[in-house]
Amino acid sequence: MTSVRGPVRPDGTPIDKDAVRRRYLEERDKRLRADGNDQYLRLTGELAGYLTDPYTPRVERAPRTDHVTFAFIGGGFAGLVTGARLKEAGVRDVRIVEKGGDVGGTWYWNRYPGAQCDTASLIYMPLLEETGYMPSEKYAHAPEILEHCQRIGKHFGLYDDALFHTEVTDLAWDDERSVWIVRTDRGDAFTAQFLAMGTGPLHVPKLPGIPGITDFRGHSFHTSRWDYDYTGGDPFGAPLEKLADKRVAIIGTGATAVQCVPHLAAACGELYVFQRTPSSVDVRDNAPLDPEWFASIATPGWQQRWLENFTATSTGNGTGEDLVMDGWTDLARRMRSRIAALPPEQLTPEGMRAAFEDADFEKMEEIRARVDAIVADRETADGLKAWYRQLCKRPCFHDEYLDAFNRPSTHLVHTDGKGVERITETAVVANGRAYEVDCIIYASGFEVGTEYTRRAGYDVTGRDGVRLSEHWADGMRTKHGIHVHGFPNLFVVQPTQGANLISNVPHNLTESGRTIAAVVRHALDVGAAAVEVTAEAEQAWVDLLLTHPGTMLSSPDCTPGYYNNEGQDAGPRARLNVGYPAGAAAYFSYLDGWRSSGTYEGLMFR
Ligand code: NDP
Repeated sequence: MTSVRGPVRPDGTPIDKDAVRRRYLEERDKRLRADGNDQYLRLTGELAGYLTDPYTPRVERAPRTDHVTFAFIGGGFAGLVTGARLKEAGVRDVRIVEKGGDVGGTWYWNRYPGAQCDTASLIYMPLLEETGYMPSEKYAHAPEILEHCQRIGKHFGLYDDALFHTEVTDLAWDDERSVWIVRTDRGDAFTAQFLAMGTGPLHVPKLPGIPGITDFRGHSFHTSRWDYDYTGGDPFGAPLEKLADKRVAIIGTGATAVQCVPHLAAACGELYVFQRTPSSVDVRDNAPLDPEWFASIATPGWQQRWLENFTATSTGNGTGEDLVMDGWTDLARRMRSRIAALPPEQLTPEGMRAAFEDADFEKMEEIRARVDAIVADRETADGLKAWYRQLCKRPCFHDEYLDAFNRPSTHLVHTDGKGVERITETAVVANGRAYEVDCIIYASGFEVGTEYTRRAGYDVTGRDGVRLSEHWADGMRTKHGIHVHGFPNLFVVQPTQGANLISNVPHNLTESGRTIAAVVRHALDVGAAAVEVTAEAEQAWVDLLLTHPGTMLSSPDCTPGYYNNEGQDAGPRARLNVGYPAGAAAYFSYLDGWRSSGTYEGLMFR
């Protein structure tokens, strides 16, 4: 029997797999808490001020009571790409309703210093080919992505009818007139023949439920509402010059903190980074894109080819060249080469799972070795090492984050899974010590595991008065993650129950946008007032999803976080938070066939 090489460290020594597995479980156990998602605070009441938009003043306007063909809730990538495809399909009036002061969604709100996309711009930024735009860098920075959102909005005329600084309060289907009635916090009560929701999974900021959080008398803000008036600098990278004499605490070390800590470290008098769980921080390796090279690859259909190549490669289904070559595809490449080395008798599901785990052991050893290579102080370096499988928490990629801890003014406060104990009028308390600070920056993330209706801020009342929260009481039910039985002319734009591709969310959205535009065009062409998925077709899709083996993202062995419902059993409903069982690449190809056939199997046009 052929023997397979066991996983090794970067220096070639063998990895003791049992010891690492034990360490992973020990570290997970330190972080398990009984209160799960309830440990976080909603930004209501006296905390509502944390939600104020610091970027655009709110302008008063008269309520709308008119009618549009299509209304889209959310002006981020989902609304923009769907709106663009609808316009291309000849739908003239598409109204975006957006709580921010402009289009952009996550890129409207997240303007913290260093904000940057973690997926290569050429596949992350949608509609590059349609708008004729070349991103300036392999991983574009936030201002460029926001500008691209505005470019899409202008190019496709999506500003014409948009309502900004407007939050939906109620959506109700009027079966007699076959329209949706859209009510908002601006007193609007307009109708739309078709309606889509693309509010994104990460748009409601949350704070950690730390005792005393409201006692703090210094300055504080959440990273998604960055206060440049206080810090100085700007989203384009100008130094945060007003922090030179300030003692600043940042709470949280997720993907956001990893990007803004280097900027804070360069600017603050003293910076305290309060860490509960370290992120895995792999190589970024950003570089400007070369226009000559871009011209050579940007032949017709290039972005779709790149999207498909990345999806196949990053999900382990690539067969040829890896066009994107980044951290997301690296793990898949390693896994593939390990699987290719398996002798035929080990080409079993268990054999492949073991090959995946071995590739992961090696990857994480490299990431931990990188900390040792960059961070001079041993205790700090040890604190920054992530002890879990790479996809247990959101993987991060950065070339300056670890080095920031070599500055004498930057201090890691590693709480070893316990988190911040308390906040007083003047200090952040952790590990029994009070750190006196002038400012607290909460890099504490966004609501994820909460009810969809709670995050959206409204419920949806469909045919026969049934609410979406009721229809989904036992878990999400859709066809393709888009169509919901009992909710005619409504489309949901998000990845779950579709491709569920997390490494490049926009690919999910662009495919949904294309599909919705095709369905709406067909409905208009055949003069149908309404289109709805049948109960049987929805059930058949749910049954298909239930054949999915489940994802590692929700593994209880993982260290807690929003990927696994803070380590708590999410109940049987979570069983439906999966994608097409055959994988993302297969789903996109299936969806293309479904759409192009023109029969829209499972939908009823009336
Ligand atoms: P996260 O939810 O990832 O991180 C929140 C941080 O706050 C964690 O480090 C968490 O620790 C910490 N925390 C929570 N409670 C406490 C406490 N009581 N004491 C100390 N620390 C605490 O939020 P982010 O804003 O960083 O990222 C959210 C998501 O947004 C990312 O996962 C990613 O999907 C997306 N994002 C994408 C980017 C991109 O593509 N460029 C950039 C930034 C974000 P613990 O881990 O222990 O829970």
